[in-house]
Amino acid sequence: MTNDTSFLPSNIELRDLAEEVGGILQSLFHAVRPMPGGVDLLPLVPSVGEGAGALPKLWHLILENATRLDSPLMSGHMDTAPHPYAVLTQTIVSALNQNMLFRELSPFASNIEESLIELFLDRLNLGSDWGGTWASGGSIANLTALFCAVGGYDGGVERTNVHMLLPESGHASLKKAAAILGIPKSQISLIKCNDAGAIDIDALDQSLSGKAGSAHCVVTSVLGTTIHGSVDDISGISSLCQKYGAWHHVDAIYGGALMFSKSHRKLLAGLSGANSVVVGPQKWMYVPRVSAAVLISGKDDFDRKLGVSMPYSISGETHRGFWGLQGSRPADAVVLWTLLQALGTDVIGQQIDASIALTQNFYKCLLDCKTVAPAHVPDLNLQVIRPGGKLDAIEIQKNLTREGGLWTSVSQWRDQMYLRTVLLSPKLNEKHVSDFAVSLEEAAS
Ligand SMILES: *Cc1c(COP(=O)(O)O)cnc(C)c1O
Repeated sequence: MTNDTSFLPSNIELRDLAEEVGGILQSLFHAVRPMPGGVDLLPLVPSVGEGAGALPKLWHLILENATRLDSPLMSGHMDTAPHPYAVLTQTIVSALNQNMLFRELSPFASNIEESLIELFLDRLNLGSDWGGTWASGGSIANLTALFCAVGGYDGGVERTNVHMLLPESGHASLKKAAAILGIPKSQISLIKCNDAGAIDIDALDQSLSGKAGSAHCVVTSVLGTTIHGSVDDISGISSLCQKYGAWHHVDAIYGGALMFSKSHRKLLAGLSGANSVVVGPQKWMYVPRVSAAVLISGKDDFDRKLGVSMPYSISGETHRGFWGLQGSRPADAVVLWTLLQALGTDVIGQQIDASIALTQNFYKCLLDCKTVAPAHVPDLNLQVIRPGGKLDAIEIQKNLTREGGLWTSVSQWRDQMYLRTVLLSPKLNEKHVSDFAVSLEEAAS
């Protein structure tokens, strides 16, 4: 490759670079060690670059210094290596750079986004009168839905008259959204949860009975909490919210993927009684960050509260950018759609079921350990682990990281630190989980 620094590469350079990328991708899908050995110093940004010739070594530098989600040992977060089909599709989607803001800049992609929203509504049993849009990630999706819950663009509900009830175990983005929406602190309360982070329905009933009538109540429940992966009783919460006239928002960013599972989709029962639901393909549907869908009950409400027309481009059909908070948006839906076309939804569902089954076995292995113990019975594929010996969670994590085997995160729940595992990687098998229990036992001794 030459060191020519003209703006665009020659055709020959382009061919050589594409070959290099192909090689990197192949090695990338076979990582073993989850964490880099150390992190290299960054080269300075030059005023005169080295041209195409610099790229391969820069790519290798990036690769060697990255955490490797594609390693099955990287089991500490709700982050998985995207499926290889999704990665390859993403490169094409990036190069095409379609903009979901305007239909003329994303004609096919706009149709794809709409078809996936229809698919989600159907698989989640939400009925045909729901509307939906796509958003860049779970936090923006929660903000969009809660914005709608307090009136959206259609003249908001007086914030001092809103009462926002967020679960104790809720994702940080819920608190951020409440603050961004200008809900006074005195109008935000935490719903008591059980020890595994699922909403205590009686506690919710009590809070609502004290507030309803005098305030516009907004309740958030979670399908797959961030620490324990716990699933709330969505039906029960929907019924309570209906009884008190409260808005029920469901954060299903993680657990929404159960829509493709045959064995566990019953956990989604009652969703149609909610007012808004968010789902996040980037986690358990094996596509790259960031993507999410916001689904709102009532097409009229959806248009009125989340729609703003854009005078810059007038067209016969509504642009996807009409709805939601963002302007330009990448065509993330295309990546998921292509993956689903290639694999079919059943295969994704089977993968989800397999990871839940594996976690149930991991739980059993942990019951036999002496220096660590499972902190809860897993609902999904997350298992929180309580240190039971002399070492605390951070010390155990350090030992694990040094060994270069299983890597877990450390999470704080209430006032205790725990090790947290998320068994997402499709490469995980029974041998891994029994080895994980042994690694944890050793790292904690
Ligand atoms: C990951 C997650 C979010 C936030 O999603 P981001 O894409 O990181 O903004 C919100 N809620 C739940 C339950 C999550 O798991």
